[in-house]
Amino acid sequence: MMQQFSGSVEVVCGPMFSGKTEELIRRVKRAQIAKQRVQIFKPAMDTRYAEEEVVSHSSQAMKAEPVDGSVDILMRLKDSTRVVAIDEIQFFDDKIVSVVTKLAARGCRVICAGLDLDYRAQPFGPMPQLLAIADEVTKIHAVCTVCGSHAVRSQRLSKSKEQVLLGEADAYEARCRGHYQLDEVEEQALLPLEEEKRRATEQLSH
Ligand code: ADP
Ligand code: MG
Repeated sequence: MMQQFSGSVEVVCGPMFSGKTEELIRRVKRAQIAKQRVQIFKPAMDTRYAEEEVVSHSSQAMKAEPVDGSVDILMRLKDSTRVVAIDEIQFFDDKIVSVVTKLAARGCRVICAGLDLDYRAQPFGPMPQLLAIADEVTKIHAVCTVCGSHAVRSQRLSKSKEQVLLGEADAYEARCRGHYQLDEVEEQALLPLEEEKRRATEQLSH
């Protein structure tokens, strides 16, 4: 059977404070102006500001349905829904990739917002897969709290080693590559180029 609507997958990613939630809200508002039915979801574990809203750092907010797992999004989907927006999507399990794919196959426009990297600057959960299956990727920056240039990373201010540590301006800061530090122990000193090449050759030959 021919599909009536063509679905799509959009991913908005970047570090904390980069405006992912603002951008998600902006896109949802425009869809509502176009009189398209929208459902907004967020992981129930993200209780930072409100349990049933997505809230930006600039205090913009919109009602959202908290869900425990990715499959719950499909379970709660209404037949009339044309646009599905999912905030903090990095917190979902790997099944989110097939859920998003199914939504798009059903003709939904899926707007995903999430952290591309965790506090260790490693790809966050299902984000690599989501970025790969997306039709459109928007990577946005925050402002580095040290120098004011493009911030691409989230600096954790506490010593906790949990990948997930809910917190706000007191727990994280947006930083550029240069002003981001993992911690004293894990931080790699910059090697002389010849030494860097020697080590790389050694590692590749194993
Ligand atoms: P995200 O969802 O990516 O964490 P939000 O949409 O919640 O971002 O918030 C973006 C807003 O955060 C900005 O419009 C600005 O008002 C505020 N903000 C606070 N600190 C910063 C920063 N270091 N860089 C950019 N925006 C910041
Ligand atoms: Mg956000």
